[in-house]
Amino acid sequence: MSLRYRRALVKLSGELLAGPDGPLDAGGLRFCASEIKAARGAGVELGVVTGGGNVARGSALPHLPPTAGHAIGMLGTLINGVALREALNEVGVQSLLLSALPCPGVAEEVNPWQARAALEAGHVVLFAAGTGNPFVTTDTAAVIRALAVGAEVVLKGSKVDGVYEADPKVDPTARPLPRLTPREYLARGLRVLDGAAVAIAADHGLPIVVYRADREGSLLSAVQGKIGSLIG
Ligand code: UDP
Repeated sequence: MSLRYRRALVKLSGELLAGPDGPLDAGGLRFCASEIKAARGAGVELGVVTGGGNVARGSALPHLPPTAGHAIGMLGTLINGVALREALNEVGVQSLLLSALPCPGVAEEVNPWQARAALEAGHVVLFAAGTGNPFVTTDTAAVIRALAVGAEVVLKGSKVDGVYEADPKVDPTARPLPRLTPREYLARGLRVLDGAAVAIAADHGLPIVVYRADREGSLLSAVQGKIGSLIG
């Protein structure tokens, strides 16, 4: 089995954890843990940025000041990190949970040296609380963490199967783009991930793959370079 990437940073959208039980569905948690286990089992070193959209997004809380909305969103990603750590433990995958917002007793603070050491030891590193700053999303956090730990790629996993030439919800005739440059992405005004994330990745030559993550084996396929749209 050929791995395209030796060390990858996967951003798992919070919606993957939601289901009939609510935002932290038992099946959603088991599914994400088993996807991570399969990719780890194939030998890839994995950092994981947890999204928080299943709990809250700052942009969906217009009745609150934006700093409060985004803080709530970031705390949601930490809630997901705590839950995913347990789900990984259940399937026998060792992990380390790091948070960009200090939360002693729950998670350790983000520390790239500790993260690198854990990855080298074969542990999965969960990065929670995004960047720790408002006005961006966990896509930007994924790019920053990938650069900090020397990951070769960001894999953005959600229920969207790739980058389209326009938003397919608005324009159903929009065609998928298997490959595009960051400049093309930004020029088209696409929204599937944060413009900030794409700009930072481009400055550092870091590729981003947008892939559909809610099917069994999809993370492994993304790590093998078999699915998704590549921005790079
Ligand atoms: N967020 C933030 N700063 C960050 C990362 C996230 O303020 O560095 C907030 C933002 O409001 C975001 C929410 O947390 O909408 C949840 O993250 P995201 O939207 O990336 O989650 P996803 O939709 O991928 O599950």
